[in-house]
Amino acid sequence: MNSTSLNWIDEELAQLKEAGLYNQIRTIESPMGGRVVINGRSLLNFCANNYLGLANHPRICQAAKDGIDQYGVGPGAVRTIAGTMSLHVALEQRLAAFKKAEACITFQSGFTANLATIPALVGRGDLIFSDELNHASIIDATRLSRATVIRYAHNDVDDLQRQIVAAPTGGRRLIVTDGVFSMDGDVAPLDKICDVAEQHDIVLMVDDAHGEGVLGEGGRGIVDHFGLHGRVHIEVGTLSKAFGVVGGLVAGRQSIIDWLRQRGRPFLFSSAMTAPDVAACLEAVNLLEESTELVERLWANGNLFKAELTRLGFDTGHSDTPIVPVMLGEAPLAQQFSRRLFEEGVFAMAIGYPTVPQGKARIRVMNSAAHSQQDLEQALDIFERVGRELSVIGNQ
Ligand SMILES: *Cc1c(COP(=O)(O)O)cnc(C)c1O
Repeated sequence: MNSTSLNWIDEELAQLKEAGLYNQIRTIESPMGGRVVINGRSLLNFCANNYLGLANHPRICQAAKDGIDQYGVGPGAVRTIAGTMSLHVALEQRLAAFKKAEACITFQSGFTANLATIPALVGRGDLIFSDELNHASIIDATRLSRATVIRYAHNDVDDLQRQIVAAPTGGRRLIVTDGVFSMDGDVAPLDKICDVAEQHDIVLMVDDAHGEGVLGEGGRGIVDHFGLHGRVHIEVGTLSKAFGVVGGLVAGRQSIIDWLRQRGRPFLFSSAMTAPDVAACLEAVNLLEESTELVERLWANGNLFKAELTRLGFDTGHSDTPIVPVMLGEAPLAQQFSRRLFEEGVFAMAIGYPTVPQGKARIRVMNSAAHSQQDLEQALDIFERVGRELSVIGNQ
């Protein structure tokens, strides 16, 4: 094949590499844990969304194996055609109870949960009020819906109010926000957003991917954190972060969940989660309901890491959660910082434009209950050493 019609891809790839924006993906030779093995070396892992250390928890692994023994692996087809396994039904019931919601539906991922939900609720001629920093899967879902998207300033309830008042009132309306914004670790003011939604009788949806297993009593999420049960219409979540497995969920009113079973396109046209995934998620719910210990350890680790980095003189932004951004400014410095951490034994990712604004490049530290006190002390020593070497913090 000698075609020039795809040359542009090579050119684009070369440009990405030149700008330092080409994704180099590390190969992990071990389970995802507080430490990972890369190129035969064991490193402290501060990259994963494995908040509670469940990705390689012995009980979750065993549950996945038992799930295979009882149900095999694949679901065979979409659930509306080949039927649904009792395992999936059980997980949805358990998740609804855990979230204190009327009902729950699961999807292949958090991404597809958004793609299913937003276009099922609004369409052409309708309005979506969307936080300007919402996750890519929300942005894609709003586009798929063909509704008009009105972006409001990040976490700015007054701006949301203004935009609503200025917009037409005919048609259906939806407000959508991330629960926790994962690049900064800040939390949406969902209580105030909820007041505005009720004042204007607008449907409210929160995507709590980074709040699931983190916020609220025993990790029940942002709705529980603010005590808004029954007032937030749709709670989207993921089973691939704190739950340590893979999958997505929507919890809310029974009628909404019934509607998504009829009109959620990734539900109708893409197969369900596999049996071992579902069995593993069921065990994750068991663990979360049995004890709040892992959630508490996650917060203790996050708070310690944040306090110590701040004490050392790092700028750790405005996080309200165990996510700790270490603000460095320009992307090349963040990349160099990440590379030096890696050489010293810490795997922590540099994040730059366009994921975060120009000049706001950072190392994003993802804390986890999987880290021991010793892991944290070792990582902090390495941050301090690299910080001094690159003159990010002073040499007192
Ligand atoms: C990670 C994330 C998703 C996607 O979840 P997956 O289960 O990985 O597909 C969706 N929304 C938000 C806000 C996220 O952070």
